Amino acid sequence: MAKVKVQEVPVVWIQTGSCTGCSVSVLNSVSPSIKNVLIDEVVPGTHISLRFQATVMAGQGEAVLKVLEGTPKKDRDGYLLVVEGAIPTKDGGIYGTLGERDGKPLPMVVWVEELVKNAVAIVALGTCAAFGGIAAGSPNPGGYSGVDSLLKERRINKPLINVPGCPPHPDWFVGTIAAILLQGLPKPEDLDEFKRPKAFYGKLIHENCPRRAYFDEGKFARKFGEPGCLNELGCKGPVTYADCPLRLWNHGTNWCIGAGSPCIGCCEPGFPDLMAPFYQKLTDAALPAIGVEQKK
Ligand code: SF4
Ligand code: SF4
Repeated sequence: MAKVKVQEVPVVWIQTGSCTGCSVSVLNSVSPSIKNVLIDEVVPGTHISLRFQATVMAGQGEAVLKVLEGTPKKDRDGYLLVVEGAIPTKDGGIYGTLGERDGKPLPMVVWVEELVKNAVAIVALGTCAAFGGIAAGSPNPGGYSGVDSLLKERRINKPLINVPGCPPHPDWFVGTIAAILLQGLPKPEDLDEFKRPKAFYGKLIHENCPRRAYFDEGKFARKFGEPGCLNELGCKGPVTYADCPLRLWNHGTNWCIGAGSPCIGCCEPGFPDLMAPFYQKLTDAALPAIGVEQKK
């Protein structure tokens, strides 16, 4: 029987100003396992070829940086660029560097600018990469920026998909990659106004929350551990778009509100500053009703 050629999609995954939590979350993907994602066919006939990922690759030092440096030239047909972490931009980006060039530290922002050139698309993994996140929290002395803001500022036009979360759920990343391999890049209507796939970020936490009946009846927990809606304890579910209440975390084990913690709005632009104080009641948000259409 003739062997069907398996298409290889090169993926370059660069970590900038990050805590590596997004990698850790995605590496804990259970179904499919990360081994399946990295080695097997993600969708029939297609598998990814991970060219660079500092947390999991065996190589180190100059040899692997050469691979990274050579990628835009070698893979002229393009590759998928995954950016994890916010990008330090102030003072030429000197607050975050990766390797050296001509004996000088090479700023992460330069790496990103070079790697986006021949990328087919960019996946900004995690809230830091998508919107700046914790790294860009006030007072942000390093001028940390999300990918979208950086590209806009540098007038670089590239397809971008934001997969926020602090950290992001492994399914959000694996599902986004699988959809790209299966159907190509998402259409504009597949993404929300913040370039998040609606498949994962299409509904408010508040809309699907199992404590919603308490909210509607005005039964609020006043102390942690009490039954009731967590609105008085600072829950940001009414302003946060993600499918955590349906998908759950740790392979369906539990999730933030299920464990008694308010949602802290980790998938939203402006997190953490706009969501702080985490345990203080939302005051100026209009609380939407069940079935509300997502912002276009
Ligand atoms: S405010 Fe939070 S805990 Fe209460 S119903 Fe909405 S999402 Fe659930
Ligand atoms: S429930 Fe809220 S804080 Fe928890 S992971 Fe989901 S979006 Fe983030």
